[in-house]
Amino acid sequence: MDFHCHLDLYPNAKKVYIEALQRTEFVWLVTTSPRAYAATSKVLATTQKCLISPGLHPEIADKKYIELEMLLSQMENCTAIGEVGLDGSARYRPYFELQKNIFKAIVEKCAGFGGRVLSIHSRGAAKEVLDILEANPGFGTAVLHWFTDSPSVLRRAIDAGCWFSVGPTMMKSANGRKLAALMPREQVVPESDGPFAKIDGVHVMPWEANTVAIKLAEIWNISQDEASFLLKSNGLRLMGLLRI
Ligand SMILES: [Zn+2]
Repeated sequence: MDFHCHLDLYPNAKKVYIEALQRTEFVWLVTTSPRAYAATSKVLATTQKCLISPGLHPEIADKKYIELEMLLSQMENCTAIGEVGLDGSARYRPYFELQKNIFKAIVEKCAGFGGRVLSIHSRGAAKEVLDILEANPGFGTAVLHWFTDSPSVLRRAIDAGCWFSVGPTMMKSANGRKLAALMPREQVVPESDGPFAKIDGVHVMPWEANTVAIKLAEIWNISQDEASFLLKSNGLRLMGLLRI
């Protein structure tokens, strides 16, 4: 299972899509803009095994903010939204206020629609992400993808009821492993974040997301079978929230 994948952005996406349907049980395909969602939905189908969701990636907020209204209307018929969120790193700081306005509008709309499941980017801005989520009770369920903040902000996210999607690349960093050790095991699902995420220069594929169980087993001090079983049962629960 892969709960955060930019499948539409792999070279040869159609081939990856077909292979993913054969090799894994579920892929949450998060798009980076409303237009990309519309285009991807024409080429690839949402099936029981592949959920395609509309998003607006914070890294391209300056170029895509004009598509916000399009996203808000697409959201009406989608149970899942992503990738959305905030990026507070130096490169994207110049339009952080714009990012916040976009993310606020999305989260408010989720609450207005009675709740949605969101795949959220929070690099360098997890505190601000949580501020916005907490200001909008009833927004639904947040899945924080590749969480990289501090243990204290992680604690706050856990208290707010967030889920976490973690992937093999996150396990390569000491901070990633430290945070994974502190995550509630019942709220963790696998992700690839491919093709952005790479290991040794090679894209992580959607069917490789489950290999995160190997590292999680070590970190959580349980067997690989137990880790795989946990991830799978968590995944099935999250799929229930996504109404799949
Ligand atoms: Zn992503």
